[in-house]
Amino acid sequence: MAENSDAYPHFWAILERLPLALLYKESAKADIFANEAARNLLGLMQQHKPLSLPQLSEIRLLDPQYNRISLLNNPLLLALSGTLVQQQVRLGEAGNAALFMLQSQLVKLQYSLGHTIIVTFCPLQQTSSSPEALPAADIPSAHIAELEEALAFDKLMSLISTELINVRSDALDQHVEDALAALGEFCHADRSYLFQFNEDITEMSNTHEWVRDGITAHKDNLQHIPEHALPYFFEKIQRDHIFAVADVSLLPAEASAEQQEFNNEDIRSVLCTAMLADNKLIGFVGCDMVARQRNWTGSDLRRIKLVGEMIANSIQNVNYRVSLQQTQQQLLQANQELKKQANQDGLTGLANRRQFDEKLLEEIQRSARNKLALSLILLDIDLFKPFNDHYGHQAGDEALQQVAKALSKEARRQGEVAARYGGEEFALILPGSDSDDCHEVAKRIQQHIKALNIEHAMSNVAPYLTVSIGCYSVIANKNTSPKQMLNQADQALYQAKAAGRNCIIRKSEI
Ligand code: GH3
Ligand code: MG
Ligand code: MG
Repeated sequence: MAENSDAYPHFWAILERLPLALLYKESAKADIFANEAARNLLGLMQQHKPLSLPQLSEIRLLDPQYNRISLLNNPLLLALSGTLVQQQVRLGEAGNAALFMLQSQLVKLQYSLGHTIIVTFCPLQQTSSSPEALPAADIPSAHIAELEEALAFDKLMSLISTELINVRSDALDQHVEDALAALGEFCHADRSYLFQFNEDITEMSNTHEWVRDGITAHKDNLQHIPEHALPYFFEKIQRDHIFAVADVSLLPAEASAEQQEFNNEDIRSVLCTAMLADNKLIGFVGCDMVARQRNWTGSDLRRIKLVGEMIANSIQNVNYRVSLQQTQQQLLQANQELKKQANQDGLTGLANRRQFDEKLLEEIQRSARNKLALSLILLDIDLFKPFNDHYGHQAGDEALQQVAKALSKEARRQGEVAARYGGEEFALILPGSDSDDCHEVAKRIQQHIKALNIEHAMSNVAPYLTVSIGCYSVIANKNTSPKQMLNQADQALYQAKAAGRNCIIRKSEI
């Protein structure tokens, strides 16, 4: 089998190991390859050479009507002609259900094992041995109808599952309902439904339901059903992952609660299959027969399993996506918080020294570029050490917060920044303010702090807390730097202290 695996070695390795018999033909070549199961089935165990179409027709497997070879036993056998153009493969534990579909000109193979493999082939090619020339196979029409129904169901499931793969959380319900409706219709059931368990599997709720016309819906009455209400069912679905009852009246004695419940709803047959996510039971999908009994078939079981797995996968996907989004959101918030903390003074909420340094540099560059005035204010609380000593550190902190609040109120214009520059020292950047504008702001601040009227009995300047202010204004040029501006403002502040505190000294280059 290795010789036709060149282009798609992984794909062929999978086909070779599939437990269903499969014949594969590449469009460009006349040869037909049989996988191991097919070789077994056709008694070709020793033959590793490719087969030809006439050879196969001799063993009467060819169905010209469908331009494919069918062996309508289990396992199904199908010869596919074409070149692989696309593959999606997920292999799960072994199973024995196989199905194929023809989609317009495309041949699509879907194989269900409890997981799904979808292999898409390119259009069927006419071969040198035309199908008309081949003998017809003896295929009972009932088998054809069965196969056609299987194809129709699988085509529908394929459509639904493709949509379910990337389903958004708000569209999940609709898709689950579509899948339940398809299941109910194809299994000839009267009701199909989805139940989900709580985290510790002590109760279950009916979350989705489909009912045939004329059948009563029960979803609303089936919420938060505790384990002790249906102990037999809870145990069975957890242990066997399947609950198949062809005749409710034949349930054993220990299932009396379940029997009672089914009788109340006139349910004669029930088929449920567990839904697992990461090997944990999360719920189950089920079908009911109402007022009529039914022996569930292998096809019903295969269909319900497929729908259960599909829904479980989708729920899991949506949950993953939701929790991923939540984690991303939390990370984003944490990042924003970190960024804020990195730029903010913890006590006062003003910009910290780091942010101040950045902003001052930016504004110097802008001022130089646009030839616009730029002012800097440095402000220091007068006699704050005696204030602290007298009123305590806590009162000192509160005073700092009040002063900070006053500053942020007075530096409200676009681009203005108030920062805590050191212990009891603050700074304001005033872009676009010349010396007079800056002086106005400084006076307002002084007034504002005076109006706060924070008692300062230890001050020889005033009976309330006061500040000294140094201003510096400039139109930045190549000699202007943060350090130089801070030096100038600091000198002005020093002079204000020397002049008796509670006053404003300004320096200007404009
Ligand atoms: P001057 O008028 O010359 O500025 O006198 P001053 O006492 O304010 O100056 P000095 O630099 O001697 O003291 C500043 C005081 O500010 C010292 C310290 O106790 C206080 N201080 C600095 N940071 C904080 C703070 O975060 N909280 C409190 N409560 N006090 C602080
Ligand atoms: Mg100081
Ligand atoms: Mg001080």
